[in-house]
Amino acid sequence: MIDVAVIGSGYGGAVIAARLARRARVLVIERGAWWRPGDFPESISGLARAYMGRGNPGGLWSMRLGAGTGLAFASAFGGSSVVNYGITAQPDDHAFAGWPVTAHELSPWFERARRELGASANPRGDELPDKRVLDELEPEARVDLENTIDWSACVRCGRCVPGCNHGAKRSLDRTYLAQAIHAGAELRLRTEVRSLTAEAGGYRLELAGPGGREWVSARRVVVAAGTLGTLDLLHRSQVPLAPMFGRRMSMNGDGLAFLYDTRRALATHHGAPISTSVRLRFEDDEGALRTLMVMSGRVPRAALRLAGAGLAVLAGVLIDRRDRREQPAGRWLRRIRDLIAVTERGALTRSFMYKLDGQDTSGGNARFTSSGAVVDWPDYVDDPVLQFAAARLRQWADRIGGVVIPDVARLPGMRSFSVHPLGGCRMGRDGLDGVVDAVGRVFDPRGGVHPGLRIADGSIVRGSLGVPPSLTIAALSERIAADLERELATSRDPTMTA
Ligand SMILES: Cc1cc2nc3c(=O)[nH]c(=O)nc-3n(C[C@H](O)[C@H](O)[C@H](O)COP(=O)(O)OP(=O)(O)OC[C@H]3O[C@@H](n4cnc5c(N)ncnc54)[C@H](O)[C@@H]3O)c2cc1C
Ligand code: SF4
Repeated sequence: MIDVAVIGSGYGGAVIAARLARRARVLVIERGAWWRPGDFPESISGLARAYMGRGNPGGLWSMRLGAGTGLAFASAFGGSSVVNYGITAQPDDHAFAGWPVTAHELSPWFERARRELGASANPRGDELPDKRVLDELEPEARVDLENTIDWSACVRCGRCVPGCNHGAKRSLDRTYLAQAIHAGAELRLRTEVRSLTAEAGGYRLELAGPGGREWVSARRVVVAAGTLGTLDLLHRSQVPLAPMFGRRMSMNGDGLAFLYDTRRALATHHGAPISTSVRLRFEDDEGALRTLMVMSGRVPRAALRLAGAGLAVLAGVLIDRRDRREQPAGRWLRRIRDLIAVTERGALTRSFMYKLDGQDTSGGNARFTSSGAVVDWPDYVDDPVLQFAAARLRQWADRIGGVVIPDVARLPGMRSFSVHPLGGCRMGRDGLDGVVDAVGRVFDPRGGVHPGLRIADGSIVRGSLGVPPSLTIAALSERIAADLERELATSRDPTMTA
């Protein structure tokens, strides 16, 4: 019998596996494959082939569409760490208001996770002109970002999102998961946990992998299948759960916006990863403090022509203040010139591309479809944090010119996409307030907690963080792992190596 089965190998699962493999027999079950440098798709057709669906269960990425929202996520050894930008940021303390654990209590776990993930600031960041412009626009609010990137190997191709073929990304297979393997964790890759059922002394897991169906038993189970994967699995398994299951989910204020063709040289280094930001705070209608992080990005080199052409057309349709003083013919002439001159010197070099993360109002709810959980939040695009962001961009345009292309989800036929959905099994003080407690134990609505069952991933994050979530998920999981280690150490079970 397995001591601890860890389902999923993203930030939650990787931390748990690394910490517990030193003490117990740990099995990591991951439905995705181990993608290595050279394996990642580099073309649109390659991306399409890597789409995970019924006919391609080993695919790298997938998405789900709900009312008003779209969610994209990865399926791989290392979870979304293999396809993300590796931005590692700690939320403001006010993001933890109402949580069953305080920012102060989490502080040592943040430190520990930051050390293990090994993020660092871009050593060539000062060459990027957007820093200077942001310093001028938002004095004292600019924050250098840290990324889990080995900068000496980074060739600044800007393809971090489909995955790094240059071996420059410090994804989890090179950090926490490498430690777990070293400590003896067993792996079952390309294997999906279809269901979990309580049995005497633990849980029985139904697995579907390359060899077909099989069953394994484990004394303890940590579900770390990512926000949607965890919702899917627990829903399928019909584990009795607290009423907050699938409720009050957050998109983490995710948005994508552009300030196009300003008067300043901005994105002159096409392809460099996102490495600077401004962190703004504002009060919501109830007087509570919220954070908005505006991260300055660049279009990947390979997508310059496509993005440049699309933005030139959009900017031609959207009329900003400067354009109102101009005849339509002049405006379109300018855009046609942009279309032709989408080059290293074109309008894109004077444009900001913004990735937004902010504290939204966590108004999403899960709906279970035949392909899994989707999040419904029809008016997400009107959330106060996105309105605040649009207003701020317009202020910037007043100062440095340019056409504001606000959250692209506002454009006809588009919807808000998030790459970090959070919640659904949120932490709470009890079974009315949340689905798990502050150390990931799952409340049983019939009383107490489900023995031996924990959740450690983005689904337990109680509310919007306002910054990219990976570091927080790792820190929460470090704390959960420490509690589990204590539990194992005091266990009378003879198979435990503690
Ligand atoms: C394109 C993109 C860019 C991002 N950029 C950043 C960034 O720069 N900084 C940041 O902080 N965050 C970023 N994020 C978000 C961040 O990567 C996620 O929030 C984080 O990975 C979530 O960690 P997790 O442990 O909850 O789950 P995940 O990383 O999603 O891992 C869950 C794993 O569980 C597996 N799984 C699911 N169901 C099962 C099952 N039934 N059986 C077995 N395995 C299963 C999945 O295949 C997956 O590999 C980005 C995300 C994406 C998609
Ligand atoms: S920009 Fe750097 S880290 Fe990102 S994919 Fe290219 S080489 Fe890898």
